[in-house]
Amino acid sequence: MSEYTQIFRGTAFSSKSPKEVLVLKDYLFCINADGMIEKAVAPEHVDYQSLLNRYQEKENFHQLADGQYFLPGFIDLHVHAPQWAQSGTALDIPLYDWLNTYTFPIESKFSDLDFAKEVYEDLVNTLLANGTTTSLYFATVHKEASLLLAEICAEKGQRGLVGKVVMDDPEQTPEFYRDANTQTALADTEEFIIAVKELAKSTKQGVYPVVTPRFIPSCTDGALKGLGELAAKYDTHIQSHCSESDWAHSYVQERFNKNDAFALNDFGLLGDKAVMAHCNFLNDEDAQLFAETGTAIGHCPISNAYFANSVLPVAHLHEKGVDIGLGTDVSGGFSPSLYDNARQTVMSSRMLEDGVDPNLSADKRGLPNSRVTINEAFYLATSGGGESLSLPIGRLQENYTWDVQIIDTKIPSAKLPIFDANEDLSDIFQKIMYLVRPENIREVWVQGNKVHNRIN
Ligand SMILES: [Zn+2]
Repeated sequence: MSEYTQIFRGTAFSSKSPKEVLVLKDYLFCINADGMIEKAVAPEHVDYQSLLNRYQEKENFHQLADGQYFLPGFIDLHVHAPQWAQSGTALDIPLYDWLNTYTFPIESKFSDLDFAKEVYEDLVNTLLANGTTTSLYFATVHKEASLLLAEICAEKGQRGLVGKVVMDDPEQTPEFYRDANTQTALADTEEFIIAVKELAKSTKQGVYPVVTPRFIPSCTDGALKGLGELAAKYDTHIQSHCSESDWAHSYVQERFNKNDAFALNDFGLLGDKAVMAHCNFLNDEDAQLFAETGTAIGHCPISNAYFANSVLPVAHLHEKGVDIGLGTDVSGGFSPSLYDNARQTVMSSRMLEDGVDPNLSADKRGLPNSRVTINEAFYLATSGGGESLSLPIGRLQENYTWDVQIIDTKIPSAKLPIFDANEDLSDIFQKIMYLVRPENIREVWVQGNKVHNRIN
């Protein structure tokens, strides 16, 4: 029998498929020195008792208390790190105005590394405290501050995928906030990629550089082409926004006479390691292109309610074979919590299915078969995110990373309404998904290391 670095014992929830959640009752999770789950052992397994005998009294044995459960760490596929500084503001104005009057001015301040450090440290702490163990970040156009964000993730133990944002088109970006020109945008991106890859060598949980054209409207053709080439050269992840709102979607149609998805593909910006935020206006051909290229959608339901002019048809896109994960879109979405976004995913899908205009008859009001369940929303926040990023994360099973949140349903300040000691575990799972607050998230682990420990 091999030596394990840590052993955890308790009941866990993990997606088996988009619709099905596995209840792993009283399992032993055996973690190796790389922070991977080497064995997940059920109580009826022949080795269970001998593992218990061997490790139970040791310091590296962790037994969950009564009322505590393991959930996989959540994976946030869309965070604008600098926008944390303006979360919750200006959500009542349209996307175009929101970018120009609020967002670009705040992002331009990240040339100041002291300011960047203050905001980024607070954001990474906040996301970890909300159970988010992996984040896909847009930073800003500034190379140094973007690298600082990757360093902060590395130091705090979060798995960070970070992009230096490219926006070089003078037509669509303000003079005070853009890349100086296409050449510097590409040179800075390449230097950033090399620096993050270097940082990754000493970062157990991984940090990853991400090629990040903000979105087509803010980039020249030269930048888009060059970024596609850099992504291929260094085999990096890619992120951008795709077909988000009426305005963004029709802008691309006018410029290229095709939809976002096909335009991005022409520049080499789709693929297995590409995640596109929003995608509300994908048609079936676009969706097929996503499925064929392995491109994923970062679904941001709270942000969509403010800026996307529509509800993403998650169920339909899943049926088309598109990978989908969940994003907060801080700060187009006001909440840093993927719990809030999982809940909104379900609620928005119900409105899409039923429709919203009471003046229409029931049969004309909505889009049939659009609802998703809380199980599916949980899948998006965990396993779907892992598949979107092509990383072994988001599931509590062998050969996946030990990225977990320990949920305490019994703490006095945020007790969950569980009154029956024998309550069905799948009901408890649903209560966790709908009612958990940051107070309930007692510990967070990434790649076998404890990165958050709540003491009050
Ligand atoms: Zn965004």
